[in-house]
Amino acid sequence: MTAKTAPAPADASERRAKPAVVAYPSATLPRADMAMLEAARRNLAKTSETIVPPRDARAFRVPAGHFFRIVCIDGPQVGDLNLWNATDLTERFFSGKTRALHATHLSTGDRLWSSLPYLRPMATITHDTLAWYGWDDDGAGIHDVIGTRCDPYTNRLLNGGDYHHCCHSNLARAVGAESGIGAREAEAMIHDVLNVFMCTGFTRDTHQYFMKASPVRPGDFIEFFAEIDLLCALSACPGGDCGASHSSDAARCHPLKVETFRADPDIAATWRPPERSAYPRTHGEA
Ligand SMILES: [Zn+2]
Repeated sequence: MTAKTAPAPADASERRAKPAVVAYPSATLPRADMAMLEAARRNLAKTSETIVPPRDARAFRVPAGHFFRIVCIDGPQVGDLNLWNATDLTERFFSGKTRALHATHLSTGDRLWSSLPYLRPMATITHDTLAWYGWDDDGAGIHDVIGTRCDPYTNRLLNGGDYHHCCHSNLARAVGAESGIGAREAEAMIHDVLNVFMCTGFTRDTHQYFMKASPVRPGDFIEFFAEIDLLCALSACPGGDCGASHSSDAARCHPLKVETFRADPDIAATWRPPERSAYPRTHGEA
């Protein structure tokens, strides 16, 4: 909204003074058993490690009941994360509903929900070394589900020219290589991301999406518990710490590391993957 030209009605203040109501109250939201997960994560055995090169992406798989970490290893770097059900790729991460159910930015205890008609937790965040950041004076937070991912189409629209290492393209190449179908066909699988380590918000005056340099430093990590068998892809964004630009080679970029872990088998034995939504999908039709 750039121009507000319509005259305000006489009762404008009264209309504006209505109470804000949380759209999805969290009281009935199924929560993870964080005590069980906290106990499970005390005894992790590393099973694999993947380095995601700067301005590129890698796919990786995480079995249900295992943990994975995205680790900052070299310098401040943002990562764009996509998730799929490894056994049914039509079920994928639903950034918008995750935002509506939790908040604009995620941290420990929040869950990454899957697309309709499935709507179940795909992963739960079990540790976040940047949880201390909270909300800063600009209203910004870390690990957002409000951005989408940098992509070559928006770049061409706004700046002209073609840049092939946006997160959208990186993710498409990585999943295309993992699945053997190539980037062009895999492109349709790419969806709105969890912006790992990214520091973002909306400007107070115009409510535009903004970014600022990520506070992440080497050694920081975010950790997830895989609630179902996951195929994941992570892009090391060409924006680097996203403090100035993206969709170009201008920013200094760093690799990211992904580690997967097997949990204490005794504790994991008490856990079961969440079921897909039981809604019968009739939508009121006979
Ligand atoms: Zn990006």
